[in-house]
Amino acid sequence: MSVVPSTDSSRTPAEHAGRRHQVLVIGSGFGGLFTTKALDAPEVAVTMVARTGHHLFQPLLYQVATGILSEGVIAPATRDIIARQRNAQVLLGEVEEIDLVARTVTAGSVTGRTTYGYDSLVVAAGSTQSWFGNDQFAEFAPGMKTIDDALELRGRIYGAFELAELAAAAGRDEDARDLMTFVVVGAGPTGVEMAGQLIELSRRTLSNEFRHIDPSTARIVLLDAAQEVLGSFGDDLARRTRRDLEKLGVEIHLGAKVVDVDATGLEVEHHDGSRERIECSTKVWAAGVKANRLTRTLSEQTGAELDRAGRISTNPDLTLPGHPEVFVIGDMVSMEGLPGVAQGAIQTGRHAAGQILRRVRGEETGQAFEYFDKGSMATISRFRAVMKRGRIELTGVPAWVAWLAVHLFYIIGFKSQLSTLAHWAISFLGRDRAERTVTEQQVLARLALEYLGEDFLRSSLRTSRGEQVRLREQQD
Ligand SMILES: Cc1cc2nc3c(=O)[nH]c(=O)nc-3n(C[C@H](O)[C@H](O)[C@H](O)COP(=O)(O)OP(=O)(O)OC[C@H]3O[C@@H](n4cnc5c(N)ncnc54)[C@H](O)[C@@H]3O)c2cc1C
Repeated sequence: MSVVPSTDSSRTPAEHAGRRHQVLVIGSGFGGLFTTKALDAPEVAVTMVARTGHHLFQPLLYQVATGILSEGVIAPATRDIIARQRNAQVLLGEVEEIDLVARTVTAGSVTGRTTYGYDSLVVAAGSTQSWFGNDQFAEFAPGMKTIDDALELRGRIYGAFELAELAAAAGRDEDARDLMTFVVVGAGPTGVEMAGQLIELSRRTLSNEFRHIDPSTARIVLLDAAQEVLGSFGDDLARRTRRDLEKLGVEIHLGAKVVDVDATGLEVEHHDGSRERIECSTKVWAAGVKANRLTRTLSEQTGAELDRAGRISTNPDLTLPGHPEVFVIGDMVSMEGLPGVAQGAIQTGRHAAGQILRRVRGEETGQAFEYFDKGSMATISRFRAVMKRGRIELTGVPAWVAWLAVHLFYIIGFKSQLSTLAHWAISFLGRDRAERTVTEQQVLARLALEYLGEDFLRSSLRTSRGEQVRLREQQD
């Protein structure tokens, strides 16, 4: 794509050149995809540059991690989704530079770097996991932002049960107990959903499958530095969620800040300053996000402020100061009342697309974005969820049914919806999980489990008494 020279602001460069207005969209998440779809108009040509070839439905990542859904269901190919939209194309690339003066975006891929020009730019690169300045925790307490993260977690979770079985078979009950301790850090919706699923997995799905361990005795711990579970849902739903989780068997530690993490456990500091170590092989970090680092370059070039989470302040219409042709949307935006949720990205994306079309059509632009809150929901376990929309609060089965319907509605594509329904029936009406495959790469994912593997190997082959490790008799 050639670089488009910038001209006066009353006419778009495309109009000067007598060709279609070129829109470049960075990212294929909720923001990028819904912007592109809303730009299905003959006056514009849309190029979507994204780091992955798929559109990811992040709210269901925890179901991939716990074996309910396959990755394909929540991450369909972006080019398949927009195949019929003839004015749009998708190109793989990780954006490294944005030059607002030259109106260019440079992206890298395995084949090298490419520079694209644009008439309008929509930056929808989302957010990444935040370990609050302790990035060294990531190795042992991975987050859940990508398909790779979810598959790695699946490997760690199912791998931990396998290793626990081996340890118990060899008579190393203490190791087995640590391997069956799962700690979820962060008691927001993702942490709650993850903890609930770990309970269901251990108490229902795996309950009859092992001979040396009893998976239903697995310890599931949910930690948060805050004093509430699901604090953003209000006191009543927070209390109700905590009660439900505890009834299911989740151990909840609030006011507990994680201060250290290693291969075999983590350390928390309580409000009174005391410290406690929890031995556990599997940790899941569901505690925080920070905006994609592209906000930094945008801030440097425009003077727009960044907040503590790295999100950028935009004009009310989502453009950047001095750049009516550049929109920032979704998780990257810092705006009063705009939450970092899928609806925030979808609605900002549609607004940006609307503004671009108005500009191209010579209509008045600059209308402020207004977020319409459609409510929040989180599942606790099968048949149990909480939902809040304005003053309406739902719990239990009605909230769970609403959750199913909303998520099914937003999953892209009829095939994926059908497949999701089938998988949910298997997991929620039955006990099984259809997606438990774990490859060796996943079990030994990154270094953390390799370290654990070495420790495990050393202790299991420890023959201080010159004895061979013998399997215990199989339990009935
Ligand atoms: C585990 C989890 C559970 C969640 N649950 C819910 C929920 O239940 N309900 C809800 O409403 N919201 C939920 N969210 C939040 C919701 O998913 C986000 O708010 C939403 O995805 C934000 O959309 P976005 O388009 O801004 O960013 P994203 O959806 O993250 O998309 C960003 C896109 O940019 C691409 N990208 C990133 N960097 C670059 C680069 N340099 N170059 C090119 N491409 C790049 C990415 O690959 C991706 O395609 C959840 C999030 C997570 C992680």
